[in-house]
Amino acid sequence: MRLATITNWAYGATVLLTIVSSTTMILASNAQEHERTAVEQRYALDKATAELGTDIYALSDRARQFVNTGDPTYLAAYRSEVAALEAVEDRIRHIGDAGATTGELDALKKAVTLADTLHDEQQTALTAQENGNGALARQILFGAEYERQLDRAELEVQRFQDRLDSRIEAQVRDATEISQLWKRISEVVLALTALLVLCVLYFVFKQRVLHPVVKLSDVVNRLAVQDFAAEPPEVSHIDEIGDMAQAIRIFRENGLERQRLEAERDADRTMRDLLSRMTQRMQGCDSLHDLKEIVQRFVPEIAPAMPGRLYLLDPQRNLVVEACSWLGPVQSGTQFSALSCWALRRGLRHRPAGDNVDVPCDHVTWDAAHPVDTLCLPLTAQRETLGLLYFEMPAGGAAGAAQLIYFDMLAENIGLAIANLQLRDTLREMAMADSLTGLANRRQLGPALETQIAQAERLGEPLGCLMIDVDHFKRFNDVHGHEAGDAVLRAVGQVLANVTRETGLAFRYGGEEFLVLLPTLSAVQAEERAEDIRARIAALRLGHGDADLGPVTISVGIAVAPDHCAYDRLVRTADAALLRAKTLGRDRVEMAKLRNAASA
Ligand code: GH3
Ligand code: MG
Ligand code: MG
Repeated sequence: MRLATITNWAYGATVLLTIVSSTTMILASNAQEHERTAVEQRYALDKATAELGTDIYALSDRARQFVNTGDPTYLAAYRSEVAALEAVEDRIRHIGDAGATTGELDALKKAVTLADTLHDEQQTALTAQENGNGALARQILFGAEYERQLDRAELEVQRFQDRLDSRIEAQVRDATEISQLWKRISEVVLALTALLVLCVLYFVFKQRVLHPVVKLSDVVNRLAVQDFAAEPPEVSHIDEIGDMAQAIRIFRENGLERQRLEAERDADRTMRDLLSRMTQRMQGCDSLHDLKEIVQRFVPEIAPAMPGRLYLLDPQRNLVVEACSWLGPVQSGTQFSALSCWALRRGLRHRPAGDNVDVPCDHVTWDAAHPVDTLCLPLTAQRETLGLLYFEMPAGGAAGAAQLIYFDMLAENIGLAIANLQLRDTLREMAMADSLTGLANRRQLGPALETQIAQAERLGEPLGCLMIDVDHFKRFNDVHGHEAGDAVLRAVGQVLANVTRETGLAFRYGGEEFLVLLPTLSAVQAEERAEDIRARIAALRLGHGDADLGPVTISVGIAVAPDHCAYDRLVRTADAALLRAKTLGRDRVEMAKLRNAASA
């Protein structure tokens, strides 16, 4: 019920009760009026009957005085008393008409009749007196009969007054009781009206207004400071407060929606920021090692609670091999055939336990009863497949369409970064490798030597250096042509690459000269390695076309720092040893002199 309806009902009830209260008030007032009329009536009759009694005696006195004295003044006084008595009798009759009972009137009539009888006797006595019969007059007025009648007249007056008293008293008592009853009813109705008003005030203002308003005000205050956990109270009444609660509920729902959109926008911004920072870092990557570190650092932030793996494609074996992983994925192995992944086969995102039914990849451990939500994203660049990005989704935390877009962006960025790295490696190899032999060229020697020296010095380890020169190489060119010379150089380079695969670094120093660095090898070990190289090259049997190129020999100079020289003089010292090997007849290994021996 609306507040206005309740208020109207309460108003109507209050008006009704007020009318009842006023009516009872009027009734109480009427009862009082009756009481007053009764008192007035009693007073008038009291007064009139008292005058009647007085006048009866006064007439007797005047008549007796006239009879005793014969003074005509008394006769005149008597005549005027008679007129007064008639007036009193008239009044008494009038009063009687106004409300006296028949019993009362009988008593009064008797008194008046007696007064009239006395009056007649007085007239008779007065007439006798005037006729000179004073004795008869005295006999009448002072006789025992006259006295008796006088007493009876007084008695009747008294009786009338007693009756009047008892009636008026009864009337006054009744009127008082009725008046008090109406007054009490009026008071009760008044109290009911007041109670009703108070109840309405209590109900409307406390129950229906104050309580909900206090609660709503608390909610509004909390909503004002963006605390959308504040829930508006359930107000089921259809009234102004209910409308207000409904408005606040809508306001809160709008706020929650706005907050959700802001949270989504913030999450989107954070995600894009993360992706952007990750992309920037990947662009600055110098090696696959750097790339793995970046992926392991950023991907768990971009896809929280989603274990995964980055695989790189080995095109020679058509295998995808783990590059790195995060959060411990368990459903897919560290390497598998590229053909066992649907994402790699189709070049598209593959999610077998997604919204649509799909076939699981062979590389995923699949249990049809408990399918795992996995996601495979091919890494491609310029239509070339480079690897695979794999995720395991947590149960129940299905990735939404928006998140899948981030995954696509992530895969695209990682694919581009891998392509960049591969391109860079290719360029670097092209720039740093010797195109004829495949060994590192002289440009790489400087930084490699610096690194090796720094490491050896830090660890206090020896660093060996072999300076190798092909003996009489010019002859191969001169006799069999330049291409044959190239073939010899390629073969020598191949031997050096094989020998230094485990430990050591081989460089083409220039022309038909090579340099090998042997970290941690002692002078004896370095000499053994040099002899090994010399023997392997000597064992080569090379041909060019139909021609046999004949044996290839080399001269080797060995220097080991810090045994033979300071680290920074290693190459020069080995070169000096090589020169000695040449001088001493070629096809031999010559060790640099020990420092002490050299200074001696
Ligand atoms: P030695 O035993 O004193 O070292 O004599 P050698 O003939 O090996 O030395 P020399 O310095 O006289 O000759 C080196 C030749 O190597 C000269 C140069 O034409 C040739 N040469 C340098 N680089 C290449 C190359 O890349 N390919 C070919 N085919 N020949 C090269
Ligand atoms: Mg040379
Ligand atoms: Mg030479």
